[in-house]
Amino acid sequence: MSLANREPPPKAANLNRRDFLRSGAAVATATLAPGVTLIAFGGSQARANSDANKRWGLLIDANKCSADCSACVTACSNENGWKDTGHPETDAQWIRKVTLKNTETGREVTAPVMCQHCETPPCVDVCPTGASFKRSDGIVLVDKHSCIGCRYCMMACPFKARSFVHEPLNNQKAHAPRGKGTVESCTLCVHRVDEGRIPACVEACNSTGHGAIVFGDLRDPDSDISKRLAEYASVSLRPDLTLNPGVRYTNL
Ligand code: SF4
Ligand code: SF4
Repeated sequence: MSLANREPPPKAANLNRRDFLRSGAAVATATLAPGVTLIAFGGSQARANSDANKRWGLLIDANKCSADCSACVTACSNENGWKDTGHPETDAQWIRKVTLKNTETGREVTAPVMCQHCETPPCVDVCPTGASFKRSDGIVLVDKHSCIGCRYCMMACPFKARSFVHEPLNNQKAHAPRGKGTVESCTLCVHRVDEGRIPACVEACNSTGHGAIVFGDLRDPDSDISKRLAEYASVSLRPDLTLNPGVRYTNL
């Protein structure tokens, strides 16, 4: 897969928010498991925990990412309670491994791709209800209470980072609420970040010894991620779109 060569996404749906709601399409569709609330990812608490002095990001070193390793994907699945059942059209896709090939040199690398936590996120721009939002610390989330499942954000995202929940769900994680009829994507493990911990994918990658993913504050010049970004050349995916993602890559 070559993200660099992908066509731009379809033009964002140019639908007036009020017209949309008036059309009757705004039907609350989320179906929750008993005892699970959706407040954790979108409610006032999630927004209140955000620190505007920070911008959280990831730096992924493709040279350190092993082609036969998917520990980050497994860790994300376990942490957030989604499953890959081998049906990519309908499965949750919070994070996936992709192979990128340089067509001139033939060099191939693999790297995980997840929500890139764009500074100017198209998913937020097109959302008719405000369910897609960016916290002041740069983490992009979906408020499942107000997501109506229209999937405009899925069409607008150039990285195919979002997926739609088609089926009723059981055994959800209390810290990672999901709901049939809503859209979801990588949350940067916001529940962990708000506790001062690192995302599950980073922890898992470290535990394999690869250490291919660094998490940290892009606004802090003394953070490990900022120092590495200053020292090594890095790229974002689809820089032509000028979305300024919080996820950067080296050695792609
Ligand atoms: Fe939104 Fe996609 Fe950017 Fe994530 S990667 S912030 S889902 S546009
Ligand atoms: Fe917003 Fe996406 Fe939900 Fe539509 S599907 S309401 S665009 S978050």
